[in-house]
Amino acid sequence: MSAPATTGYQTLTEETVVKIIEPLRFFTGEGELRVKEIGDGNLNLVFHLTEPASGKSLIVKQALPYAKVVGESWPLSLDRARIESEALKKAAEFVPDLVPKVLYSNAELAVTVMEDLSDHTILRKGLIAGNQYPKLAEHVGTFLAQTLFHTSDFYLHPFAKKALVQSFINPDLCKITEDLVFTDPFFDHETNDFPDELRPDAEALWGDQELKREVAQLKLAFLTRAEVLVHGDLHSGSIFVTGESTKMIDPEFAYYGPAGFDHGHFFANLALSALSHNYHTKEPGARSDYQEWLFSVIRDTWHHFAEQFSELWKNKGTETYTKVPGTLNDFLQQTWTDAIGFAGCEIIRRTIGLAHVADLDSIEDQGVQIELKRRALRLGSSLIKRRNQLPDVESFIAALKGGI
Ligand code: ADP
Ligand code: MG
Ligand code: MG
Ligand code: MG
Repeated sequence: MSAPATTGYQTLTEETVVKIIEPLRFFTGEGELRVKEIGDGNLNLVFHLTEPASGKSLIVKQALPYAKVVGESWPLSLDRARIESEALKKAAEFVPDLVPKVLYSNAELAVTVMEDLSDHTILRKGLIAGNQYPKLAEHVGTFLAQTLFHTSDFYLHPFAKKALVQSFINPDLCKITEDLVFTDPFFDHETNDFPDELRPDAEALWGDQELKREVAQLKLAFLTRAEVLVHGDLHSGSIFVTGESTKMIDPEFAYYGPAGFDHGHFFANLALSALSHNYHTKEPGARSDYQEWLFSVIRDTWHHFAEQFSELWKNKGTETYTKVPGTLNDFLQQTWTDAIGFAGCEIIRRTIGLAHVADLDSIEDQGVQIELKRRALRLGSSLIKRRNQLPDVESFIAALKGGI
């Protein structure tokens, strides 16, 4: 497809976005074209374009040069739009059915034009509504196994891998994670956001030197371990679902990092959902069917991931050490342990940090909400500190059941 001529960056409006997609000749031109900005995120504009006459539709996502939530005082590189497009295209090489199809991208305008997935629901909304998605674990496990393996040194030539590392250098978005996930929530920082009732609990975290020492290790792993191309923001708001289909969207935080990072964020968001569903349980200690389903997603995601990753390692591993017995197990074990630690950080930052989750914040009874958040802080802290004593998915699920 031919690229539209561009004269530098401009913020698109519901009027000007139409000009951007004209050269794609995607729509038939019959009848009206409806345009609506539907973004619910903090960093970007998302336009939904539909042509009722033909039934065709698409999405235009544009990065803003600042964080929408804060305003122009927080500048943010537009290069993340290129990163998002490239990450979606990279994933489509291995799992085309698990990401939205990119129809066009323009780095100068920071635009990605992609398949419209409006027939899907954002997973977080589905989880809050108590819906189950039978394919979710298999699809997320497959996505992680395929994308992580094929972007690793176990598979790629070292030159090809380093070229990819280079093209996914993502300093601005990594800095957001470094600050908002790994640093600010563990100190009395102005970006933190929590009700007064939680201050003693927050102060307990800030005073816990053992915890902070462990978080320092996790942050260092995030800063330095360029193992695989991770999605970088795989929470339940970055996953679109139906009963049969799963799509990982919004990889603008993609970069080369530790292999357990995405698992950790996905598991943490399932754990927060399980916590938020506590009010469904009638008896103390009993778990609702819905919570059991959430735990089964964690279990099955890990098993699907480990099984497929192991198959790929055996059949497609090129790095010499992939043939040495035990190396696969060592890598999976490290990935697992890291995932628990990252999950702990995500649970804490979603509770007292800048960006919360609707799963907990939408609970109307403030007393219940605060009690659940208190448990979230204790759970997150315990996962970080005890991650080496939770060697497998069953011990992790037992810890979650005890902690929520
Ligand atoms: P942000 O980076 O700002 O969070 P997202 O990529 O997560 O942006 O998109 C924000 C919202 O826009 C999503 O929650 C979803 O409602 C809608 N959206 C994004 N991509 C698509 C798509 N391909 N099809 C339909 N809706 C989409
Ligand atoms: Mg998003
Ligand atoms: Mg969003
Ligand atoms: Mg985003």
